[in-house]
Amino acid sequence: MTFRSSRLFLAAAAALAFLGAPAAAQKIDVDASACPAMFTVLSAMRAGRPRAEITRMLEAVLDSSPYRAMFRHYNRSWRPNHLPRETFENMVLSLRFPDAYRRGTNARADAMLDRWRRFYADPDLFERNLRQIEATDLPGLVKAGVAYAQTWLPPEWPIPDFRVIIHPNGGSPGFALPGEQGLDFFQLPRDGRGDIVWGELVGTIAHESHHLGLRPAAPPGLSDADAAAFGVLSTFVGEGTATKFISKAPGGSVPALAEIPFPTAFRGDLLEAWIELSAVEGELFGRMIADFDRAAAGRMSAPEADSEARFWLGGLVGPAYLVGSEMFGAIQLALGKPGVFSAMRDPRRLFELYARALDREPVRLSGCPRLPAATVARALAIGARGPGGPRRPS
Ligand SMILES: [Zn+2]
Repeated sequence: MTFRSSRLFLAAAAALAFLGAPAAAQKIDVDASACPAMFTVLSAMRAGRPRAEITRMLEAVLDSSPYRAMFRHYNRSWRPNHLPRETFENMVLSLRFPDAYRRGTNARADAMLDRWRRFYADPDLFERNLRQIEATDLPGLVKAGVAYAQTWLPPEWPIPDFRVIIHPNGGSPGFALPGEQGLDFFQLPRDGRGDIVWGELVGTIAHESHHLGLRPAAPPGLSDADAAAFGVLSTFVGEGTATKFISKAPGGSVPALAEIPFPTAFRGDLLEAWIELSAVEGELFGRMIADFDRAAAGRMSAPEADSEARFWLGGLVGPAYLVGSEMFGAIQLALGKPGVFSAMRDPRRLFELYARALDREPVRLSGCPRLPAATVARALAIGARGPGGPRRPS
């Protein structure tokens, strides 16, 4: 989620293809070094050190590999310059030097600032959390999250080795990049006293691990139109499955999955956002169908595909999380895990398996939006025309 996690229609599948070959044994590397490093910077700010010195310290921390990963996440191909490094740096400096950053400059930095202020104002809490991190078996927690995530991946898709970075961020609570997972120190699950609740964090790690294990392969030699159509389908796979089967998405037209061992990630404002999306589920399905049909007909330009990707994956809870989790939830309810894995392995079958689930469980899935038979058939036919199909307009 950001539940976080995750993209341009095509980038979703393409980025995953970067992942290396699966390893026999999971090697887990946890790097929380950015937390004490940033604490030192904030302490220097509070101690009234000169601005030039603080700027140098901060820049050194932002040069470290955890922050380089964070900037890769915020400035992915489909949203370049979403959060320029300089903007982030100035936002942090503004904790002590208010002229460094003006609210309204960057929506992402604006949203981050409130979280930074909370911890800047409470160094005791920051320090107590640092001690908790030092005293906790982080690799053990990660292993537990990976083990659960693996149960919702086809067996031939082992989750590859990856690195977990915990760093003060203030934006996405969690994100996945090829070979890496980022967790926001500020948004680690905490209890009423502010202490980190590790059990809950395992669910977040499991969600992101699931993304890392996905390896859907686009059929080779697709026409531009078919590649775009395949990209639309892929948008609903990663977040749909991780949201439904790991983050315990509340029901929409499909009930929540009860047997998930973690608490639901949807509480407070995330739950409200989910409920708002559920209320317009039919419209969202309509938009997905329209997007898919337009892409398959070669009538979706690249800028349009980007803007649709921002619609589906943006916001507090991206609409793709809801629509994807409803489709996969229906498939699971009617066809079980084998059906879920079939749709994950080949997203061309996603619509077909969903439609079949509704036919198989007409009562329990009576509230689910239906798909036009022509759209289902068009999805199954992706790749049948070869590379000579319609060209994407530029
Ligand atoms: Zn995600």
